[in-house]
Amino acid sequence: MHTATADSASSPEDIRHDWTREEVEALFALPFNDLLFRAHSLHRAYFDPNQVQVSTLLSIKTGACPEDCAYCPQSTRYDTGLEAEKLMEVEKVLEQAKAARAAGSTRFCMGAAWRCPKPRDMPHVVAMVKGVRELGMETCMTLGMLTNEQAEELSEAGLDYYNHNLDTSPEFYGDIITTRTYQDRLDTLDHVRNSGMKICSGGIVGMGEQQTDRAGMLQQLANLHQHPESVPINMLVRVEGTPLENEADLDPFEFIRTIAVARILMPASHVRLSAGREEMNEQMHALAYFAGANSIFYGEKLLTTPNPRANTDMALFGRLGINTESLELEQAPQDPSPRFYDATATSA
Ligand code: SF4
Repeated sequence: MHTATADSASSPEDIRHDWTREEVEALFALPFNDLLFRAHSLHRAYFDPNQVQVSTLLSIKTGACPEDCAYCPQSTRYDTGLEAEKLMEVEKVLEQAKAARAAGSTRFCMGAAWRCPKPRDMPHVVAMVKGVRELGMETCMTLGMLTNEQAEELSEAGLDYYNHNLDTSPEFYGDIITTRTYQDRLDTLDHVRNSGMKICSGGIVGMGEQQTDRAGMLQQLANLHQHPESVPINMLVRVEGTPLENEADLDPFEFIRTIAVARILMPASHVRLSAGREEMNEQMHALAYFAGANSIFYGEKLLTTPNPRANTDMALFGRLGINTESLELEQAPQDPSPRFYDATATSA
């Protein structure tokens, strides 16, 4: 079985880059069952619905970030009790990557709490990329904003994915971050795309935004000239000491709606369940997989916030008949057309 990656499927009516806000809002407004049916049908057309890709995320440099992202415990501006740590040694990172590989991860994501990497950091992160690649894993990094040159350097080192989230809609963005602009983020995504790396970009819901902001964020991602290959949808983790510590709960069905709309707008991309999974029960996980989520972060910590234990995920996969995507599958030659998976077929 082959999986399509972003934009590889030649189905012009599904893969669009011209969504209007009204169209995206109309998807959010569909009756829940109609929305899920539509999302799941597309999911089934582009992916094996019983397969989930698993990535592990490691914080390679923690805290003391000069940015002011209102949700983030790593910002130096908020007193969250987080202990800052310097950039990890390359050998330690590789030990963690080996452990992640042994636990079934095919992709190793490394995150550093920086505004952008400094020249002195680059040789270290390049060595990490090369080392993880030598272990036979895919690599992903999130290091803040990148220049064209830095993107090129990472791409040449073999970095497969670069994560840089848009976070929310352009309109709500200023309520969440003031130290970099929306355009700065779009520029970094451009540099990453131009360097030949794949893009991982999504956002966070439950930050006090309106539904139109969730629609706006997904519209921005879907209207990039090439869809991000990976679209993480995070649920806010309210951390004491951050400006969003007392934010109201988001209706869980609204979170599922966001997953479903992401699946419809970007049918060939992996939609990833990311931060906030600790707060989600098994039923919500199952509903998210049905709505089109087919990637998770795996492991006990997602950067600095708790994440469900790896064996809890594996136990749920077993009960749901879900297999984890192997690296061979991800790298299989691209099928030029969407595949329709029969629910009765086995997904080997
Ligand atoms: S989200 Fe990233 S850039 Fe923003 S404060 Fe946290 S570590 Fe810094």
